Amino acid sequence: MASSSKDVYLVIGGSGFLGRHVVEALLARGDAVSVFDIVQRHHDVPFYSGDISEEEQVSDALRKSGATCIIHTASPLHGMDDPALYWKVNVDGTQAVINAAVANGVPKLVYTSSAGVVFNGQDLIDVDERIPQLEKAMDPYNESKAKAEEIVLAANGKGGLYTVALRPAGIFGPGDRQFLHGLFQVWQRGQSHIQVGDNTNLFDWTYVGNCAYAHLLAADRLGPSSPEEIAAMRASLAAALPPVSATLPRRRIPTSLARPLGPYVTPPPDADAIRARWEDPEYEPSVPRPAVRGKFDQFTEAALARDGEGSLAVAGQAFFIANGEPVAFWDMPQLVCKFFDEHFERPNNKRRLVLPQAVGLALASAAEWWAWLIGKEPGFTRYRVTFSCAWRCFNIERTRRVLGYEPQVGLEEGLKRTFEWWVAERARNAEKISEKKA
Ligand code: NAD
Repeated sequence: MASSSKDVYLVIGGSGFLGRHVVEALLARGDAVSVFDIVQRHHDVPFYSGDISEEEQVSDALRKSGATCIIHTASPLHGMDDPALYWKVNVDGTQAVINAAVANGVPKLVYTSSAGVVFNGQDLIDVDERIPQLEKAMDPYNESKAKAEEIVLAANGKGGLYTVALRPAGIFGPGDRQFLHGLFQVWQRGQSHIQVGDNTNLFDWTYVGNCAYAHLLAADRLGPSSPEEIAAMRASLAAALPPVSATLPRRRIPTSLARPLGPYVTPPPDADAIRARWEDPEYEPSVPRPAVRGKFDQFTEAALARDGEGSLAVAGQAFFIANGEPVAFWDMPQLVCKFFDEHFERPNNKRRLVLPQAVGLALASAAEWWAWLIGKEPGFTRYRVTFSCAWRCFNIERTRRVLGYEPQVGLEEGLKRTFEWWVAERARNAEKISEKKA
């Protein structure tokens, strides 16, 4: 697979949440990087102002920046009532990026897709990338993301361009403009005690730095795969990967106070030794172990013979990206709200109100109707209810093996960094407001 030590990068959407982390990760390893976006938020790298749906503007930025690798993270935010905008930017815009890349001889395109492209309200339990694209997406955003991914992957190997699509699940971290913001509003309205569904559904999240890291790995490994590389990858399938808990330096699954303790389990005789290893950040478990595969596994001999070895390559493929630490869905939002409780010293002492999913859906329908009547965007929607009650956890074995991805920052550490950033950001904003007033 290609090595990219000399690549020159253009990060499309590089002013955004994820895009900025990609830029910072590239800068941190000394790469040449420029940004293409409709808005400029940082001034430390060359910036090209433009809209991806204007092919000539993308071409112009490619020529001027000398880019050899495009990392395309741009998209309108999820949740807007504007299907035409999603189509224009995500589908027509992504096509324009592909055309401009081919026209300018750019060999690599890494596209940020979304795990949502395979989500239709049904439970997704340990699904891998063989899950087919949906016939009908849940909303215009996901529909446009799915179509964009399709055209990106179809463009692979044509006109000298290699492409790959990454499908992150629930990105959070410093710089986030959606997840924390939405929960803060819920908290301010005093609604943080409300939960829809019984919170037994596991959910994957991705720390933004891990997601950016996956983009760099994909860029580095993107290109034609030689038969030797495929053969080496195939041989490596015989050894099991260490569990993510062993590869993340400090891993703790955060659970909210609301989560009841599990059933009592008699501790094993070596419980103290297990606990000591758990507490010891230097502990190195003994690996590798042989991999034992069930018949539904994507890497059995039979599956590889049937599906081909394409899945062992990077180019032309989609990859799920997650932290590899699925948690019960409500644990994350409840933990964030607990942080707000503590930060503002205003605990929400109301008893937890658990609404069954069917009740949540009925209330969301009413809320959508009401919002439509008064001409406002609904805050509480059937999509959100379905989203918060479904299992959404993804098998990232192929991402780990083929991209060489390992999450670098665990959920607990990721949340800590997110909270620190949020506090600092509020202080900065307050300072700006008082400066303006003065
Ligand atoms: P973001 O809104 O913070 O960043 C997107 C950037 O794209 C913004 O800077 C925006 O100005 C830019 N942009 C929008 N339209 C543009 C256009 N027409 N031309 C040029 N630039 C344009 O969003 P994000 O959360 O950083 O998401 C980044 C990518 O990750 C998106 O493609 C999104 O679909 C995908 N994704 C996000 C999540 C998540 O949880 N945030 C999950 C899965 C996938």
